[in-house]
Amino acid sequence: MNQYDYIIVGSGIAGLYTALLAKEQGRVLVITKGSIDDCNTKHAQGGIAAAIGKSDSPELHFQDTITAGDGLCNEEAVHILVNEAPDRITGLVNFGVPFDTVNGEIALTMEAAHSMPRILHAGGDATGEHIEVTLSNQVRSSKIQVLEDCLATEILVEKGTASGIKALDCRTGSIEEFRCRFLILATGGAGQLFKFNTNSDIATGDGIALAFKAGAEIIDMEFFQFHPTALHLPGVTPFLISEAVRGEGGMLRNVEGYRFMPNYAPQGDLAPRDIVARSIVYEMKKTGSDRVFIDITHLPPYVTTTRFPHIYRFCLDHGLDITKGLIPVAPAAHYMMGGIKVNSWGETNVAGLFAAGETACTGVHGANRLASNAMLEVLVFSKRIMEKSRKIAKPKAATTSQSLEVRHWLSQRQLPKTIPAPSLSALQQLHWDKVGIIRNKASLTEAADTLAAWQQSLALPTDRPSYELNNLVLTGRLVTEAALLREESRGAHFRSDFPQSSPEWQRHIVFTAK
Ligand SMILES: Cc1cc2nc3c(=O)[nH]c(=O)nc-3n(C[C@H](O)[C@H](O)[C@H](O)COP(=O)(O)OP(=O)(O)OC[C@H]3O[C@@H](n4cnc5c(N)ncnc54)[C@H](O)[C@@H]3O)c2cc1C
Repeated sequence: MNQYDYIIVGSGIAGLYTALLAKEQGRVLVITKGSIDDCNTKHAQGGIAAAIGKSDSPELHFQDTITAGDGLCNEEAVHILVNEAPDRITGLVNFGVPFDTVNGEIALTMEAAHSMPRILHAGGDATGEHIEVTLSNQVRSSKIQVLEDCLATEILVEKGTASGIKALDCRTGSIEEFRCRFLILATGGAGQLFKFNTNSDIATGDGIALAFKAGAEIIDMEFFQFHPTALHLPGVTPFLISEAVRGEGGMLRNVEGYRFMPNYAPQGDLAPRDIVARSIVYEMKKTGSDRVFIDITHLPPYVTTTRFPHIYRFCLDHGLDITKGLIPVAPAAHYMMGGIKVNSWGETNVAGLFAAGETACTGVHGANRLASNAMLEVLVFSKRIMEKSRKIAKPKAATTSQSLEVRHWLSQRQLPKTIPAPSLSALQQLHWDKVGIIRNKASLTEAADTLAAWQQSLALPTDRPSYELNNLVLTGRLVTEAALLREESRGAHFRSDFPQSSPEWQRHIVFTAK
């Protein structure tokens, strides 16, 4: 029987953690388009933020999160995030996640824009892998049904209520329907929009496209975080060099060996990500280079190898001993702050449809995410989805609206006469060049016109790559159109034609299908 209480799409931290809680409340199906461990979660290095240190407090964590969010955080959601964090960490420890300890206490480190050491980590710099493996082992040994190589292609909506999902069996090519009372999208981000990105191949904005087509509101899409420091070696896919490396004393230097960050921000190397990413772009331009460097050669080698075993090993495997040599880095697309708009219970405006994790937008990150708040957000708001759904007899459309929103839909565009044929590489190049770290009206208009033309010309999808390309084009349109509308610079969104932030724009852009 294809009828479930909960269907969860995705098997990263959001999907698996939610499934483990949901199994106490009903029959659960998890569908995931690759194998269970294909996700962004397993690549997370730095850790999870929580104010559990003796001199720390939820108030300080709140303040840091709000400051990073640059005027656009949902304060109620941030309060929930920082206050519920310690209990959710206990929950994760109870599931068996082996956080690193010092003298029997959980070890805490510093990261950019945090005022306290409050980042919990596991296996040094392999936090995500430990979380993913622990949760997937728990799911495997439970009664939760998991369908791998199963790609969600459409949300079934009946009388305004999400009632299930259509999915493609990627092995056989057949389409099947699954029904449920509650549908939870946990499909992750959309880093594959950009040529240089730190994300796994699965990050193709599927949840955004599915939800948008089902009538859900999509918010804050112009805010895409670029991580300042991805390893930049010829022929090597960008690999994240965690912020924690700078947290432990790593210094950025340009190709001439000059330490430039103190010239750009009082926090120097630990300034917020958007400032560091833009400063690196300026330095690269100034010096005519495609990279800068992180220097940790002053750290005792055992600190580097024990604190960052994963990064150390990866670099060594590519011929670079980071205890002795500088690490070449450049910015790369990293995290989608916007997403499917949800209230503080993870509910969307479509009855029965919830969203969790990177695909959702609870409003805690505002215009710029504070490092290590992403996986915390997953834990806190996934738990709240379960609390809410336990009390619901019949799903109803939730009120998600906040003050300070402007509503839009995707309008017609002037279609260019000549455009490149749509392909993943053309789409990634377009976003990197025209919708990247520094944008302006001309570049965004060119991208918006091209994406609109691609959307019209794409054939109906039949397999995983073609569904993903369709989803990326739609997600890219939402990012680009929102970036075009926001005529200011704020957080991760920087317009060279509007370099200042404007009080008029202290509001959110929301897209709906009509
Ligand atoms: C390199 C890197 C380092 C990071 N470091 C940190 C960190 O230190 N701390 C932190 O807090 N955050 C970090 N982040 C961000 C954080 O890891 C992610 O935001 C978080 O793990 C996302 O979890 P998720 O479950 O929402 O998505 P994911 O883990 O990406 O999982 C998404 C799942 O959905 C599935 N899926 C997608 N579309 C479909 C579909 N159509 N049908 C079926 N299944 C589908 C995918 O296959 C996958 O299983 C990092 C991210 C990256 C990329």
